Amino acid sequence: SNITFTMIKPDAVADGHIGAILGKISEAGFKIKAMKLTQLTVADAKKFYEVHAERPFYGELVEFMSSGPIVAAVLEKDNAVEDFRKLIGATNPAEAAEGTIRKMFARSVGENAVHGSDSNDNALIEAQFHFSGREIF
Ligand code: ATP
Repeated sequence: SNITFTMIKPDAVADGHIGAILGKISEAGFKIKAMKLTQLTVADAKKFYEVHAERPFYGELVEFMSSGPIVAAVLEKDNAVEDFRKLIGATNPAEAAEGTIRKMFARSVGENAVHGSDSNDNALIEAQFHFSGREIF
């Protein structure tokens, strides 16, 4: 599969970075297959981040991800998962490379501006979590 799933997280939406982040994504050659402004419920955020349930930051992560609007999107490009993770940079913006989305726009390791799927399988699962078949073009 050549798709990945992303969220522009509540920090970056609140900080007014939607347009700039979509610009970087577009310049990097990703095509938008689906997109919406939405807000996760606490239950949605718990389910989406279920794999992190045992991590010490899980509660904080769930609270943050449900705290305000996000942009959810499905993106298409050759090698989408890997290339998108390169574009966003390291989880911690202090360790992210110059020019990456997290380096430019993230507040902190938790409030780190964007999500990117970590595998092709998860990209599909995450896309289907947020979008129906009719919403993906
Ligand atoms: P994502 O899955 O959002 O693309 P990632 O794969 O870079 O991020 P993970 O280690 O999977 O990072 O962690 C998932 C998310 O949990 C991070 O994006 C961040 O928002 C949050 N997180 C990770 N580590 C911490 C931490 N030490 N403290 C607070 N929040 C954290």
